[in-house]
Amino acid sequence: MVEIKTAAERQAMREAGRVVARALEAVRAHAAPGVGLRELDAVAAQVIADAGARPAFLHYRPAFAPTPFPAVICASVNDVIVHGIPDGYRLRPGDLLSVDCGAYLDGWAGDAAISMVIGDGDPRDLELIATAEAALRAAIAACVPGGRLGDIGHAVARIGRRAGYGIPADFGGHGVGRAMHEDPHVPNNGRPGRGMTLRPGLVLAIEPMFISGGGDAYLTAPDGWALASTDGSRAVHVEHTVAVTEDGPRVLTLP
Ligand code: MG
Ligand code: MG
Repeated sequence: MVEIKTAAERQAMREAGRVVARALEAVRAHAAPGVGLRELDAVAAQVIADAGARPAFLHYRPAFAPTPFPAVICASVNDVIVHGIPDGYRLRPGDLLSVDCGAYLDGWAGDAAISMVIGDGDPRDLELIATAEAALRAAIAACVPGGRLGDIGHAVARIGRRAGYGIPADFGGHGVGRAMHEDPHVPNNGRPGRGMTLRPGLVLAIEPMFISGGGDAYLTAPDGWALASTDGSRAVHVEHTVAVTEDGPRVLTLP
């Protein structure tokens, strides 16, 4: 069921989103060569705790997962697309790191992700990130009353495909509210003018993920969580929680 949020509820979600944004910015500031992924997890956990919020990913177990998620962030390095579990890995110069984070504040969820290069990056990785961010902006711009769900996926896919990137078919965005994952599913592809009509109060997580090698297929890691490209090529993931409002799209996960 798709839930419509009142203006007051959207404002409460904005506060949850702000916590997530702060956690991600703290992770970005801390990420450097030699830093371990578990250290980054601890940085995000501290920001969330200091805000009186609760991590949304820790112990979360969706239907596809064999075990509850053991961390506060997903840290997906290089060929890992999404859902990387922070482990003992230490970042190296040139790594492409995607960080996904969710939190509950006063019963409302926020969900966002950023991607970055550690140290001096390969220009192709910087372009991959810039393209995903452009796709996210275009998809956010489609979140207007009277628009359709297909407009969002179309905006993502048009930009990703034009760049020659692959798009994993089974994963995408989702409704956000009292629960981190609500209806509807928001695919990273779609036909403009098709699908559910967008109306004020709808709150969606929009999350482009692109595979630089161009294929759409992915591998699932033995841990049952991390998804990686099949050809070892690098992947990117960015995400914002966005409210459809009478005045247009409002991004809830900005700092
Ligand atoms: Mg997320
Ligand atoms: Mg999400």
